[in-house]
Amino acid sequence: MMKVAKFGGSSLADAGQLQKVKDIIQADKDRKYIVVSAPGKGVNNNHKVTDLLAMCHQLSDHDLNFNEVYKIIEDVYKNIADDLGLAIDIDSILADVKEEITNGASYDFVISRGEFMSAQVLASFIGYDFVDAKDLIFFNEGILNLEKSQENIKNILSNHDRAVIPGFYGQEDGDVKTFSRGGSDVTGSVIASAMDAQIYENFTDVSGFLVADPRIVKNPCPIETITYKELRELSYMGANVLHEEAIFPLRDKNIPINIKNTNAPAKAGTLIVSNSDIKNKRILTGITGKKDFTSITLEKVNMNNEKDFFRKLTTVFESNDISIEHMPSGIDTVSVLVADSYITPKLKKVLEELQIYLNVDSISWERDISLIAVVGRGMKKEKGVASRTFTALAKEGVNVKMISQGSSEINIIIGVETCDFEKAIRAIYDEFYGSKQD
Ligand code: ASP
Repeated sequence: MMKVAKFGGSSLADAGQLQKVKDIIQADKDRKYIVVSAPGKGVNNNHKVTDLLAMCHQLSDHDLNFNEVYKIIEDVYKNIADDLGLAIDIDSILADVKEEITNGASYDFVISRGEFMSAQVLASFIGYDFVDAKDLIFFNEGILNLEKSQENIKNILSNHDRAVIPGFYGQEDGDVKTFSRGGSDVTGSVIASAMDAQIYENFTDVSGFLVADPRIVKNPCPIETITYKELRELSYMGANVLHEEAIFPLRDKNIPINIKNTNAPAKAGTLIVSNSDIKNKRILTGITGKKDFTSITLEKVNMNNEKDFFRKLTTVFESNDISIEHMPSGIDTVSVLVADSYITPKLKKVLEELQIYLNVDSISWERDISLIAVVGRGMKKEKGVASRTFTALAKEGVNVKMISQGSSEINIIIGVETCDFEKAIRAIYDEFYGSKQD
């Protein structure tokens, strides 16, 4: 049996946190491969080490002195090493990194050093081997080369019974290359998939996912199990406890991910599984949403008989580099929902082009639309979810502007006016998770 455990930045912020990490690892002998982030914000540090390194790179790139910023990084690692009485020579590791920054190391190289150093610190503290991610993770034209990485991981880690590995980076043609921010989650996932781990444990500072945003719903229930597909629907709409790309290497191998809390390791956390037969107590798994969309509505009689209508419509958005979020349609009308960030600077131009290219009868547009995603694998088999959802919204006086149900039947997307966003989420949550449900 073997588990891969990844610890996020807040779990490595100071000596106290590292002690918790050690206790967690030692509590289960199957936790053999450990992936770490760079130290995050903690009691004594207000900044993430990765952000500080990025700043050092920027200053050095402009031939400006970066000593002051680097000193904050040095203090983080030195305090940890001193407080834990570590045997590693942290001063010389820090000095080497500083020299590399001074000598013009690349951005990716510089921002990867937070993980590089924290993995050495933890390895020394728990007596595991340190294995550099540069030898394990490979990129091809900036994209993870999963097969090559898996092959190398298997070859190299089979020589290490226990190891700590820095997250976030690997190499392309010998040069350090990083994932996008938060990418240590992906490193852990690639290692778990390569080593056929029994489970990938992702330790962070929350006890998994919550059914709804706690800033909107008071004390929302935790999500016990969620499928990979449901998570895609929810993460796409804005929940970001786990890097989106961490799902793919594991999904096909049916390796579950357990999101757990370093500060409350006894809590079960959220289990992400591929098997949709595992039931939750409630039909809905999660409710989430996103604000700031614009809806552009086109009307044209007999639109559906024009074979090239939809092609032309999407061409206007594509050629303006605008992603379409949803496109609900009627017989003679279609609405296109797009994020404000894309459309706002180009609205006038897009409206003109739609009029010219599609020769529509009328165009109107509406701002301040919010989208709410109601997600649950249980919906597929259960009747009445939509009716309960919309009744709950109606009771609260929420005007529904748009409805779309994915063909997988695990989600319903509801467009509402932004002023109703929070009210709508609370109404749906109360309907499915409110006290009358217990
Ligand atoms: N340290 C990197 C970041 O802050 C990667 C990670 O923590 O996953 O984005």
